[in-house]
Amino acid sequence: MSAPLSKAEQQRQRDDYLALAHETATHNAATLTYLHTLYVKARRQKINVWQELSDYRKAENTGVTGPSIKSAFRSFVGDLQGNRCCYCRRWLMSSGHAKPIEHILPKEKYPRFSVDFWNLAVACTDCNLLKKDADWGSIDKARRRYPDATEFGDFYHPRFHRYNEHVSYRRTESNDICSVSYNGHTPQGQHLCHQLLYRVAARENLYSNIPSMAKAMTTLQQFQENHAPGERKAFERFRKSLDAAVQRRLDKSAADAASLNGKR
Ligand SMILES: [Zn+2]
Repeated sequence: MSAPLSKAEQQRQRDDYLALAHETATHNAATLTYLHTLYVKARRQKINVWQELSDYRKAENTGVTGPSIKSAFRSFVGDLQGNRCCYCRRWLMSSGHAKPIEHILPKEKYPRFSVDFWNLAVACTDCNLLKKDADWGSIDKARRRYPDATEFGDFYHPRFHRYNEHVSYRRTESNDICSVSYNGHTPQGQHLCHQLLYRVAARENLYSNIPSMAKAMTTLQQFQENHAPGERKAFERFRKSLDAAVQRRLDKSAADAASLNGKR
């Protein structure tokens, strides 16, 4: 039986964060004051304030800037996730922009929750890009208060649900071949597999088993990790069409295999 994080566990997690919302205790008070202002602005005016946080440099002399606040948050949530991606559980790399902060309810569609503590997790660049603006749940976009864990229904929520109770994965690597597969055990786990993880696995299985493709993908990945999300729009468009083309190829292979099995 899987249960989402209880109210008491949520409170503990929030208290831990509030106790050290910045890398240093000296900067904590200023960080919390600034975050509270942003939080209220997003909530009241229904504004996506994420870019405003990213650009914040006003109190640079105090050491509190948008990037430093995000970096401390990334480290806090990254630790909770065991330094693995919140969706695919691959290790999070430390280079450049390899640890994007993921908005579980997309910030463009749910601007009020653009800096909500519970709406943020850390994903790998692959999952962040593949999920992008996808809205998996049926949460009312006009609501003011962040939904409770139980309101997400079959939607897997990386901050409220415990990964191991919902999804298991197997990664096998030999001298010649690498293979990864995901399995959803609950409606939330199965939803996550269908929405994202089967695609992540199919791509990884394809790329890692064709040496020339693996090399090209590593180059693309490195480029992606050296630039902030949204900084290279043309590259992101290219990556999106490449992903879509690969997905069409994988879907066709799966359909061919199914029809072949049907004929046997
Ligand atoms: Zn991932």
